[in-house]
Amino acid sequence: MTEHTLTVAGVAVDTRHWIGGERVASTETFTDVSPIDGSVLGEISRGTAMEAAAAVAAAKAAFPAWAATPRAERARILHAVADGVEKRLEELAIVETTDNGALLRSHRRGVMPRVAHNFRFFADWLLKLEHEDFETRGHTNHVSWDPAGPCVLITPWNAPLMLATWKVAPALAAGNTVILKPAEWTPLTASLLADIAAEAGLPAGVLNVVQGYGSEIGDALTSHPDVRRISFTGSVPTAKRIAASAAVNLTPLSLELGGKSPLLVFADADLDLAVDLAVEQYDNAGQVCLAATRFLVQESVAEEFTRRFVAKAGQLTQGDPRDEATDIGPNIHLRQLEKIDGFVQRAIAAGARAVIGGHRKDGQYYAPTLLTDVAQDSEIVQEEVFGPVLTLQTFSDEDEAVRLANDTRFGLAATVATGDPERAERVTAQLVAGTVWVNCFFVRDLQAPFGGSRQSGVGREGGTWSFDFYCDVKNTVTAPNGWRNHG
Ligand code: NAD
Repeated sequence: MTEHTLTVAGVAVDTRHWIGGERVASTETFTDVSPIDGSVLGEISRGTAMEAAAAVAAAKAAFPAWAATPRAERARILHAVADGVEKRLEELAIVETTDNGALLRSHRRGVMPRVAHNFRFFADWLLKLEHEDFETRGHTNHVSWDPAGPCVLITPWNAPLMLATWKVAPALAAGNTVILKPAEWTPLTASLLADIAAEAGLPAGVLNVVQGYGSEIGDALTSHPDVRRISFTGSVPTAKRIAASAAVNLTPLSLELGGKSPLLVFADADLDLAVDLAVEQYDNAGQVCLAATRFLVQESVAEEFTRRFVAKAGQLTQGDPRDEATDIGPNIHLRQLEKIDGFVQRAIAAGARAVIGGHRKDGQYYAPTLLTDVAQDSEIVQEEVFGPVLTLQTFSDEDEAVRLANDTRFGLAATVATGDPERAERVTAQLVAGTVWVNCFFVRDLQAPFGGSRQSGVGREGGTWSFDFYCDVKNTVTAPNGWRNHG
């Protein structure tokens, strides 16, 4: 143990940046706190423009060799990173739960296996990536995905390692080098990832991890002229600042942002299924960008839907996320809790009725909440809360359902519960959303395009879309008769 190590449930985590294959400490630190009980986990190196510049320089220096590394070798190393994640899965799970308060059982069984899969999937996809050559008047067109250079990847706290590796894996597979900046509330698993990647044989400088506040290190990263791509997952206001900063060099951006997604429940739906989908929206204490937080329910079944929803939600257990029996853990931060409660109390003051919840609980927990009697143009219907707070509105017919569903500035996802396939086809065709689920929720394949419409995002990642973003896609046209001086 050194002064730069903290220990979480017996797991040692280095609190310094990882730059050019070395641990680098800042003179300043910030305090990392567990949302489970408010306990201090430790002091983390707090980066500034100086560390940003060092990380970009390291990524730039490492780029030519990594870009020239054959695809098969890059893929082999990424599989070795996945092996390392699997070997340390229990450690990653408990550290992540302690740092962000999400359920340990989800980290063990869903999230961390998915982290390993991120590396395996993009390693394998890289090996399949090709576009068939085609001819133009006897000339051959050849499409290639060329590595672009250093990529800045900035991630939020609600699913830290999963969202980070969903960017890190394709960026590295593409032959780029990376500067990862995890959220300041959840920096720990990114530091463990740096250890795992080094052990797996990823060359120094190919992956760099810097920590700190967006306002202090962010601009220096996103406005740096040597950065070739910026991929950001987080909130809309931050995205606007990043877009302005990236505009200085016209650096290409991928933005995965917030949402206010609807769940449409038609009278012809399997109501038990619809209620199951609805209760799922409390997962991760409501801190899920894709969450269907606006229930739109056909009038004739609204009362019955609400009755069944209340019964089912009443069975959820809220408490310590390390406990296997817990369904809903704490919210990330006291500041976030105050924000959530502010939304709810303003909605109630404006006439909303809390069918369940509507208040804080002890510690950093918020009672699962369902609000009715909410106006379409009200703050609670239009703004992302990012907590266990859902609203219910009714509609009379399909046209009204679609109109309400599309009437926000977001367009990340939508979920439709209906027993009629023709209705499903009609409705999904009209919904403005990057992802639409019909009679299901959160089924996500890494080869599918992922992203948001309107202010929920810019661009798509996933499968080939990820390589399209992280690479300079090139078309080389060769004439049939230019070889006369050869041999
Ligand atoms: P946030 O925007 O506050 O912060 C996200 C990251 O940006 C953090 O790492 C932060 O340090 C950094 N940052 C802040 N200011 C910066 C600046 N000026 N320059 C560069 N970086 C800066 O978001 P959050 O509160 O951490 O996350 C919650 C938000 O993320 C919600 O809106 C949620 O919907 C969204 N989200 C979206 C997706 C998706 O895939 N669409 C997934 C998860 C979360």
